[in-house]
Amino acid sequence: MSDSFPLGDDDPSSYPQASTLEDFTRNLTSVRERIAGACRRVGRDPAEVRLLPISKTVNEARIRLSVEAGCRELGENKVQEAHRKWQGLSDLQDLRWSLVGHLQTNKAKQVACFASEFQALDSLRVAEVLDRRLQALGRGLDVFIQVNTSEESSKYGLPPDAVEAFVRRLPAYSALRVRGLMTLALFSPDTSRVRQCFVRLRELRDRIRQEVPEGDGVTELSMGMSGDFEAAIEEGATVVRVGQAIYGARRLPDSHFWPST
Ligand SMILES: *Cc1c(COP(=O)(O)O)cnc(C)c1O
Repeated sequence: MSDSFPLGDDDPSSYPQASTLEDFTRNLTSVRERIAGACRRVGRDPAEVRLLPISKTVNEARIRLSVEAGCRELGENKVQEAHRKWQGLSDLQDLRWSLVGHLQTNKAKQVACFASEFQALDSLRVAEVLDRRLQALGRGLDVFIQVNTSEESSKYGLPPDAVEAFVRRLPAYSALRVRGLMTLALFSPDTSRVRQCFVRLRELRDRIRQEVPEGDGVTELSMGMSGDFEAAIEEGATVVRVGQAIYGARRLPDSHFWPST
């Protein structure tokens, strides 16, 4: 899938590896400036946009540098990797862990014990198992419903027209605090088709808020990654998930993290 990324400035392989505190400080400053620039273009307040650094594949030493440079929350795609890092970095105060990748029910117990947020909820079965595990621990979890806005059969997430019915069922799981919707846009050099995914997620959120009484908590839009977060912000993103623009290009292809086309 990585070979379908646009080339040029957005080509992920062009992100240099960050390995010093100065690298991380510079990259974070640059990402925050780009966030502010995108907000300015559409008259939004940059304080409405939360930057979620995605630290998958990054080792603990480099994560520590990024935390020193100002990262206070970390997003990971895989449960085991996240859990291992959570343990290894437990001496750091007030770090918040967000799971952004697909979850199998047999890993729900692990997620329940350390994650603050889960952004890839797309089945009632997972909601039920997570809720049971969380209740047992007396914990709550912020959740985002993942929506397959590109309708590629290879992507996780609910089809857009299934989200309303899903939202109506969620109050049954009281340990889950529904925060909003999440999507992975189409990977395509065709920026108008990428943008269409973001528009779709925003319109879906607006409709749910109007028409679904149980959808009160559905306010946030988690959309946009290193290659497309500015367009996502212009279309209303309130959370952007940025890995490579902070940490540098990954060696593993993205098909390792989500099903490839
Ligand atoms: C890896 C990942 C990201 C970040 O992608 P980058 O290209 O590193 O910015 C965002 N969301 C999810 C679900 C991911 O797995």
